[in-house]
Amino acid sequence: MKVKKKEKPNIIIILTDDQGWADVGFNGATDIPTQNLDRIAKEGVVFSKGYVSHPYCSPSRAGLLTGRYQARFGHDCNMPYEGENDDTIGTPLSEKMISEALKEQGYTTSAIGKWHVGDHPNLHPNKQGFDHWFGFPGGAMNFWGIPNGPLRTIYRNGKEVSQEELSYLTDDFTNEAIEFINKNDKKPFFMYLAYNAPHAPDHATKQYLENTKHIEYAGRNIYGAMVNAVDVGVGRIDSTLKAKGIKDNTVIVFLSDNGGRLEHADNRPNRGHKGMLFEGGIKVPFFISWPKGLKENQVYNNPISSLDLFPTLLNIAGGNSELENQLDGKDLIPYINKTNTDKPHEALFWRSSGGFEYAVRKGNYKLYKSAYKEKTLLFDLEKDPKERYDISDTNSNIIKELEEDYKLWDSNNLDPGWFDPHAENVIKEEQKLNKTKRNSLHPKLRNQ
Ligand code: CA
Repeated sequence: MKVKKKEKPNIIIILTDDQGWADVGFNGATDIPTQNLDRIAKEGVVFSKGYVSHPYCSPSRAGLLTGRYQARFGHDCNMPYEGENDDTIGTPLSEKMISEALKEQGYTTSAIGKWHVGDHPNLHPNKQGFDHWFGFPGGAMNFWGIPNGPLRTIYRNGKEVSQEELSYLTDDFTNEAIEFINKNDKKPFFMYLAYNAPHAPDHATKQYLENTKHIEYAGRNIYGAMVNAVDVGVGRIDSTLKAKGIKDNTVIVFLSDNGGRLEHADNRPNRGHKGMLFEGGIKVPFFISWPKGLKENQVYNNPISSLDLFPTLLNIAGGNSELENQLDGKDLIPYINKTNTDKPHEALFWRSSGGFEYAVRKGNYKLYKSAYKEKTLLFDLEKDPKERYDISDTNSNIIKELEEDYKLWDSNNLDPGWFDPHAENVIKEEQKLNKTKRNSLHPKLRNQ
């Protein structure tokens, strides 16, 4: 059914950075206050098995924005640090981003926050289908907006923003989002609001630290304040939508770009963290709400992916995802509404650094070729969602099948266009863990 232009919903994707699975109340957080996110999650559909397509920042964003496994175009590493000088490093302009697809549907588009899918100015948001852009090009930035090189400077549509305009980035991004809504509430808009919170560095303000003063562990206290700042911002955005009378016909998607960071985040009960292909690295807090179009208070339990957002939102906007042959995701609406009771995906795949690590989730099983563990692991996620029991030794036939599935899938991918140091860091981290474990033993046992 074609949606009439005046009825087209507004669409907001809120992406957080390195936020853990259990760092929102709707997934069980008891220490960090996230009442706004929890309320909006309840107004819609929470995904209990919502995955991103990569365990760290840049590739995950490339997948989300294009609706394709980012390995399809060789984007399975973060950019190397000199990426701002080379416009062949990053998601190429030839890839169609969701912003471009929604512009074709008449949407006004905005990217706010962290970009990190193309450092060179030729690959910045204004070149990738975003009418408006406010944020920084790189992967991380201090929260005071103090410029530190071209990747860590706040720009509005390519022009450097003055220090006087900035206070605390999370608040700055929220303020810009509200201003964008105020200016564009009469026609359909798409906003990609990519907070860099709660990614390092650990910066917070007294206002948010007051809200987490009950958390006694200092690192978690500050991290919690950073998450709370996002929540307060989302609450202000939600109030703006209500005041404008457009809340009911606005789609809000919320997710984290990858699993919680190593320090201060809480991925429990999932195993592992950002960077790993254990569930803790790729399964994220994830919901969609749309009061006019989706029933409230739902939980969807089959595995879904951030790659599904492009086709889902394009169809909501009146487009036809069937015409976008490049997409790997599925329109989730028929599955959520149970007009289709199958699982959206027969299998999901992950590739890190050109296959240095990879994973396949198919049916109950998950295969993980782990560089951390120097082993190919197999888990039955139905029986063992916490990935405690590797059953690879007794299931060689299943390993073989999933490895073949991976090879077939990978045959349609490009080699990585560039590399980053994550792969080396993975090995170092495992060595550090093993050393710490050894040192915890009685001195006589440490060298065995
Ligand atoms: Ca991240």
